[in-house]
Amino acid sequence: MNKTIITTSWDDGSREDLRVSRLLNTFNLKGTFYVLQAREFRSLTDEEIKELSKTQEIGAHTLNHYDLTKLSLVRAKKQIIGSKKNLEDILHKPIKMFCYPKGKYNSEIKEIVQEANFLGARTTKEFSFREPKDFFEFGAALHVYPFPLRKRDREHYHLSRFLFQPLGRKFFKILKLGLPFSSFLNWPNLAKALFDYVYKNGGIYHLWGHSWEVERYGMWLELEDLFRYISRRENVLYLTNGQALEFFRVRPSLGSDPHNL
Ligand SMILES: [Zn+2]
Repeated sequence: MNKTIITTSWDDGSREDLRVSRLLNTFNLKGTFYVLQAREFRSLTDEEIKELSKTQEIGAHTLNHYDLTKLSLVRAKKQIIGSKKNLEDILHKPIKMFCYPKGKYNSEIKEIVQEANFLGARTTKEFSFREPKDFFEFGAALHVYPFPLRKRDREHYHLSRFLFQPLGRKFFKILKLGLPFSSFLNWPNLAKALFDYVYKNGGIYHLWGHSWEVERYGMWLELEDLFRYISRRENVLYLTNGQALEFFRVRPSLGSDPHNL
């Protein structure tokens, strides 16, 4: 059987990250929390970040959450290096992982992140579950986000031309993987079907999200149910984002069949 790595990541450093971390700990899952510096975005205190880092990984996500591709390189560099240094000052240990705000990057931004001595950087690219070819374009399997219809809050749908956006973005990918039809019905079905697919074939099941979105869209029970479903499995490594990349750096293969990764 091919091996599976399960990892999760959570962006921005909002208050609800503490609840995600408690859930992760309950099910022995691992995650990386990409924390911003500016207080208007980050509601976790330095003490809470220290507490989080005892069981989970902390990664950098810039100071102010600007789209880095729109800044001068000098300013982008300050955002990237500044956020790493700031977290290292709080935690007194190296920060290995970076996450591009809004998933935006280009080759110059990537180069700055590499030169800043990060091990890798997470993007927002979904449906990636193979061994990362480029550690600085580390994708995820699935976003924790309402599906198939876009919502405005926990009770209301986003009644606009964006209503079907989540379905539209994933439709052909789900078809291509041959996931069961039930995957189109709701997010928990899709998340579990995708897990079953990765678990069967070997690969990385990387769930990413914002804890404030879990709160806004009322997804806590769904998340807990999914965590229960993917936890305590045989032949699975539960790792933070950084540990997952370390794994590939040392041993760049998960299974015996090279087509599976
Ligand atoms: Zn963010």
